[in-house]
Amino acid sequence: MVILNNFQKNDKVKFIVILLFHMDALIIVDMIHEFVDGKFGSKRAKSIVEKINEVIKISREKNFLIIFAKDSHRENDPELSVWGPHAMDGSFASEIVSELDKRENDIVIKKNTYDSFFNTDLHKILQENNVKRLFFTGVSTDICVLHSVAHAFFLGYETYVIEDCTESINERNKEFGLKYMKNIYGTKIIKMKELGEIK
Ligand SMILES: [Zn+2]
Repeated sequence: MVILNNFQKNDKVKFIVILLFHMDALIIVDMIHEFVDGKFGSKRAKSIVEKINEVIKISREKNFLIIFAKDSHRENDPELSVWGPHAMDGSFASEIVSELDKRENDIVIKKNTYDSFFNTDLHKILQENNVKRLFFTGVSTDICVLHSVAHAFFLGYETYVIEDCTESINERNKEFGLKYMKNIYGTKIIKMKELGEIK
């Protein structure tokens, strides 16, 4: 183990832990001002803020990676032709809402499409931490959560969506999104309380 001798002690431990165990990650999609209390905000999005905090608490206890994926658009992003300018990079609208328990060591992924993987380091970060299972929360179930789950599925991750911690503009869209991910990507749809029991 010549290579290992060059590692610092902490790195050695981390390396061995990563070899032995798969990690899980909690991904919180687009819980930013624009989609909570801004241009595309809604009561439905606001209603899951505290529930997501509870999921974050459970996830910290279980040593999950905590990842916030957020829209951070640039002028020429294709999506702007559909929705108009929104959540522009560097704006207040693109900031994660302060009510969420985001800490310094949490990972923030800036995305410029519906998909949290496209043009981002998300896959690389997950691979570096040997993550196999992803637990999705946030908004919108049928748009950014769905596209991120799709890409996760293409990359071979096991996907979960926590149904009481995700929302859409209405119940119909939410139900459509959940059903689609379950049927097409084999996503497991669970409730917040079930997360604590998952081994
Ligand atoms: Zn967007």
